[in-house]
Amino acid sequence: MTPTSTQQFTVRRVSEGHSPFEGTPAGILPPAGHFINGAFVQGSSNQLLDVVDPTTEQVIASVQAGTAADVDVAVAAAVAAQKSWGATTPKERADVLNLIANIIEANREAFEVIESANTGKPRAVAEDDVTSTIDTFRFMAGASRTLTSMAGGDYATGHTSVILREPVGVVGVITPWNYPLLMAAWKIAPILAAGNSIVIKPSEQTPLSTLKLAELVAGHIPDGILNVVTGQGRTVGQRLSEHPGVALVALTGSVVSGQAVAETAAKSVKRVHLELGGKAPVVVFPDADLQAAAAGVRNAGYWNAGQDCGAACRVLVHESVAEEFTQHLVREVGTLVVGAPEAGDDVEIGPMISRPHFERVKESLAEARAAGLNIAIGGSALEGPGYFIEPTVISSVPAGAHIATHEIFGPVVTVETFSTTEEAITRANESPYGLSASVWTKDSSLSLRVPKQLDFGTVWVNAHLVLACEVPWGGFKGSGYGRDLSLYALDDYSRTKHVMINHGA
Ligand code: NAD
Repeated sequence: MTPTSTQQFTVRRVSEGHSPFEGTPAGILPPAGHFINGAFVQGSSNQLLDVVDPTTEQVIASVQAGTAADVDVAVAAAVAAQKSWGATTPKERADVLNLIANIIEANREAFEVIESANTGKPRAVAEDDVTSTIDTFRFMAGASRTLTSMAGGDYATGHTSVILREPVGVVGVITPWNYPLLMAAWKIAPILAAGNSIVIKPSEQTPLSTLKLAELVAGHIPDGILNVVTGQGRTVGQRLSEHPGVALVALTGSVVSGQAVAETAAKSVKRVHLELGGKAPVVVFPDADLQAAAAGVRNAGYWNAGQDCGAACRVLVHESVAEEFTQHLVREVGTLVVGAPEAGDDVEIGPMISRPHFERVKESLAEARAAGLNIAIGGSALEGPGYFIEPTVISSVPAGAHIATHEIFGPVVTVETFSTTEEAITRANESPYGLSASVWTKDSSLSLRVPKQLDFGTVWVNAHLVLACEVPWGGFKGSGYGRDLSLYALDDYSRTKHVMINHGA
């Protein structure tokens, strides 16, 4: 096995002083300001928040630090707009969603450049994000036209029941920094499709692509159905969670933020939709195609530099094949290219999003070293500027080790071993999270039996991190509740009403 070592990777960069917007049209950045009722407006505070490129650590833009008063103005606009939007037909709403998809497609390069500049993610990841964003709007446009409810009928003598499906009203949306545009689309598309209006607060670290979306759709969609208020979670997010005019608050983010939102929302008995953290186990049985499993972890464990709630970050491999699997994995990981988004199409690993997050990932690595764990490859931070961490594999991790149970959210994969199927299932389920997991085996019995016993919202067999708009995404346990994507998301963002007509017959 590869011995412990440091600095096996270097950061591929473009020239010093290079701007991520070099060669792009002037005005690619969105206007600063909140987007309320179809226009960019100055908020009630003069305070600004810097937006930083994590590859260079340079400030690339500033946005407004929103206040509770700004949220109140946006909610009032959303309440007013929802009345007519909620009364449109599914076809009319589908036309608007398809138009949004077309606008994003026509401007995809601007979105890719902005997303890479703001997050440091490789261009291939940004391209994939934009493609999935467009597909999300198109899927929800079509899906909303297929929605039905329980058939009406006579369930009490002389009375006929009709079940109506209605929008919930105004939805407050709070999004994270790892896939800023895509996570916004996962909320905006079904929420608008179901006839609701929105006030969205993007992550304070990555507000640019959401503001760009607002800029480009302004004037093409009804004013007030999509409002953006930038700012901090503890002010803007907090106000969205408590505002009496908001019927439902949907958050994608950490467990701590989800708990805060749910606690605040409880006071007004607001509906809550939470997509929170994850720590996905990858269970590799002895009969699995070990090379394919290692290649799967290379992709799904390190995509977006591991800053993915479904990342394949915790391998549980049968003890009889652990050595061979780890060799495959280390070889695979050794081929990853770390660098700036503009440094080549083959760059696969970008930086951590921010200095505090970079420090947290470094702490996890230091903890692993202090515990005497075997760092099979990587294991160190890379020289700045930028918040780069080496792609890392930590092998021979003992059962219950802290590093294998808490979310690191970086390019770090741990490898543990098991000896029986029952042990693999028990250990995989010994996690506060329940978002996603994968099982690698050629045994058809195991491929049906094991997923049924795993306590995760998505279980892949011989795959990991493969998503499609038709199927739901969401967690169990500490990973939250509510479903993104699929018809289930449309269910989450609508309400049913029973109308019973006494016709006296
Ligand atoms: P975060 O919780 O720090 O921030 C997410 C959003 O919540 C931000 O917009 C933030 O401003 C807001 N927020 C923070 N505190 C708040 C409060 N008290 N009230 C209201 N809003 C508040 O998360 P992050 O660091 O941006 O994203 C990483 C986390 O998101 C990880 O835990 C990851 O697993 C999770 N995530 C989950 C999914 C999923 O589908 N389950 C997808 C992507 C990311």
